[in-house]
Amino acid sequence: MDDLRCLVGGRWVAAASGETFESVNPATGEVIARLPRCRAEDVDLAVRAATDAGMEWRATPILERARMIGRLADSLVEHADELATLDVVDNGSPIREMRNDAHIAAAQLRYFAGVALQLRGETIPGEHGRLDYTIRDPYGVVGRIIPFNHPLMFAAGRSAAPLVAGNTAVLKPSEHTSLSALRLGELATEILPPGVFNVVTGYGGEAGDALVVHPGVRRLAFTGSVAIGRSIQQRAATHVVKTVTVELGGKNPIVVFPDADMDAAIDGALRGMNFTWQGQSCGSTSRLLVHSSLHRDFVERLAARIDALRSGPPTDEATDTGAIVHPGQFEKVMGYIALGREEGARVVVGGGRPPDSALAAGLFVRPTLFDGVAPGSRLAQEEIFGPVLATIVFDGYDEALAIANGVGYGLTASVYTRDVSTAHRFARDVRAGYVWVNDASRHFPGTPYGGVKDSGVGREEGFEELLSYTQVKNVNVNFG
Ligand code: NAD
Repeated sequence: MDDLRCLVGGRWVAAASGETFESVNPATGEVIARLPRCRAEDVDLAVRAATDAGMEWRATPILERARMIGRLADSLVEHADELATLDVVDNGSPIREMRNDAHIAAAQLRYFAGVALQLRGETIPGEHGRLDYTIRDPYGVVGRIIPFNHPLMFAAGRSAAPLVAGNTAVLKPSEHTSLSALRLGELATEILPPGVFNVVTGYGGEAGDALVVHPGVRRLAFTGSVAIGRSIQQRAATHVVKTVTVELGGKNPIVVFPDADMDAAIDGALRGMNFTWQGQSCGSTSRLLVHSSLHRDFVERLAARIDALRSGPPTDEATDTGAIVHPGQFEKVMGYIALGREEGARVVVGGGRPPDSALAAGLFVRPTLFDGVAPGSRLAQEEIFGPVLATIVFDGYDEALAIANGVGYGLTASVYTRDVSTAHRFARDVRAGYVWVNDASRHFPGTPYGGVKDSGVGREEGFEELLSYTQVKNVNVNFG
């Protein structure tokens, strides 16, 4: 894939400068593609194309827009294997998970297509001889910046709501994982009018920043790290006022109370870490808070389950856990494992590369469980975004809650207990945007996902996301 192009106004274009950058398979170290290195000039063309396509798109009946998004969902399912393979070679996650992502993305598209007609306004009672009603207006051009961990799922799933609501979109995928977004663009050209959905590739500080500051983009949606999210909140206001949502990181607690179903909680601790995409998930429950009465047994049994996960080539259907996405992320994960040891925590399983020499060329890290982690240590406070789970022991409800809430993040939380009061109390008291009771990791279309505190602003995957791509216009009619 030496000559990939960006999708701008329905045409495939190189960067104006002619420059390209490489995409590398993290499981093998091979260069797999060269992509256009877009900058401000290229992004400007994409925003203009999206603006030009906008008038006709917003005038297209909403059910017709929804029908096209539904057809795109069908196309994702039809091409699930191919799209999954692109994600596998681009980001190193196992094929089973990346195939599942294509189906999840299709479900998200169908959800937003299905609720399209709910995008309605209100009538507001007022004076006799007067009618007051509201309309949900699209913004125009939406800028969509996404991270590397679920390339297709975010590229497709997070574009559905803006498009159904009548906006056009310019998508900037991660520079590490752009392939499936371009293939998605290709599939979209068979269904959507030219310019409605555009894809520009490039580095965050170049193509990404150009989209953030562009005055023609009044609605920006960012998914990524806290540091970049904060800078985007500032940069977005450079030229014009914008609506910006930021879906950011997490250091999420999973709390196991003494009356929990142990088997279910061990399953939850394993699943919640999303080891099957190397822990690279904002929602990973990466702080395991276990009651002291269960602690020893729990850690021993969980360690055995983690140890049984099979590291292997991500293309292999039998692989449980693949490669870390890029060298910088790999070094970061290894650095946190070293730091955890320095801070006095104990590695129970994992803690480095897998011994298998066949994996030596790739960025593999064994799923790692730490025990004896101090709640205030960096290992317990900072998002690693890798396969590293930190165990913390507690004795009572108040202590568990204080630890759970004692980080800057507030994305997800999970609680395991058989006591209905403890469950609801914890759900009420924990500072998080998404709480599981006796479960972890699973998402369901239609349920709002997003964080509080440094984990971000905004809710996605639910009806709120659709509304968030509209602005309310009030019409006050005097007919008296
Ligand atoms: P990142 O912040 O490094 O990059 C995310 C995207 O922003 C990429 O497309 C990148 O090119 C772009 N970008 C980088 N610098 C930019 C700049 N200055 N201006 C504009 N765009 C810029 O994040 P990442 O490493 O790709 O992903 C990991 C992070 O994403 C983690 O913190 C994770 O928790 C978070 N995440 C959050 C959610 C959520 O829904 N809350 C979901 C997935 C990932």
